[in-house]
Amino acid sequence: MAEIRLQQLAHSYHNNPDSESDYALKTCDYLWEDGGAYALLGPSGCGKTTLLKIISGLLQPSQGKVLFDGVDVTAQSPRQRNIAQVFQFPVIYDAMSVYDNLAFPLRNRKLAAAAIDRRVQEVAEMLDLQANLKQRARGLSADLKQMISLGRGLVREDVSAILFDEPLTVIDPHLKFTLRRKLKQVHERYRHTLIYVTHDQGEALTFADQVAVMSEGTILQVGTPQQLFEKPVHRFLGHFIGSPGMNFLDCQVRQDEVVIDGHLMDGHPLRLADGIARRAGALTGRLELGVRPEFVRLCASAETNTVPVSVQEVQDLGNYQLVNVQCGKHMLKVKVVEAQDVQIGAAWLQFPADMTRLYNNGHLVE
Ligand code: ATP
Repeated sequence: MAEIRLQQLAHSYHNNPDSESDYALKTCDYLWEDGGAYALLGPSGCGKTTLLKIISGLLQPSQGKVLFDGVDVTAQSPRQRNIAQVFQFPVIYDAMSVYDNLAFPLRNRKLAAAAIDRRVQEVAEMLDLQANLKQRARGLSADLKQMISLGRGLVREDVSAILFDEPLTVIDPHLKFTLRRKLKQVHERYRHTLIYVTHDQGEALTFADQVAVMSEGTILQVGTPQQLFEKPVHRFLGHFIGSPGMNFLDCQVRQDEVVIDGHLMDGHPLRLADGIARRAGALTGRLELGVRPEFVRLCASAETNTVPVSVQEVQDLGNYQLVNVQCGKHMLKVKVVEAQDVQIGAAWLQFPADMTRLYNNGHLVE
């Protein structure tokens, strides 16, 4: 396994890029630690595949270096880099049996038959493919074919890293959940460096120890699922992570407190943690409060750090209620436990100081 370092890496598909927007991947420095399970998460077109192809050696970057364990591999082929890859669609040999498909990467590396057999059986067991080993791949379901592809990615123990590019797209939703858990178990057992590309936050957050979130060719934040959820460093992340995403409210700073823009808000300043409001006082640009639907609390009367709101709509979503609340000039979403009685009309909304963030032109104020 290897530590993978990106140094001043950037890529443009244009021959003569002359502006930032010509770059599919904007200049970045990053370290993927040896043995880590990483997800690369972001919407379609943000540059995930481009970055993965550069790491694997399928694409030469326009600028910068890729280092494996400190060695510059930028000019090396995928084979020289010793990378295993699993793509969105199955890459298998239809005419071969499942066993031979799994054995192929090992035979290619000239392993002894007994070692090959041991490893094929192990991977087959991991992915519940034992019963299919003798079958030809042709004629198997799309799910099973992708399982074989996953197996081919996992079968070699000596690889520098295993890269997954949306590997569960063709998999049945129910099986997806099981496979994600399996991949996590495989990682815990073998400690390969795994990089898993997806646009699905559920997949990223359940699979990875560290998630790198990308937008428009930039890695915006790298963190644990909890860090990304609780302290998104950019407005985009607040929206993109969570369902529904973070609420944003325009506001003004008054000394060491903030006041939400809009009717009735003036007499109800809010305190934030760690003197953040005071620090934001010196900033120019758009100031917004960011708070997740999970962290605001609907109250029947005024309490610490509350503002008057008007409950507009209550949706019962089974295990919680999703409440639409008018707050100043803004509409907010609030998640409320099933047991709480919520009435349409006047109420109070509490902003917990330690879970309410402040953003300046979209960037977290810290
Ligand atoms: P998706 O999830 O849809 O695969 P992605 O996040 O993996 O998206 P990339 O495929 O890396 O994003 O694409 C990043 C940008 O580069 C996009 O604007 C895309 O149109 C562009 N792009 C990708 N491949 C090429 C190519 N071969 N030639 C020109 N432009 C490309």
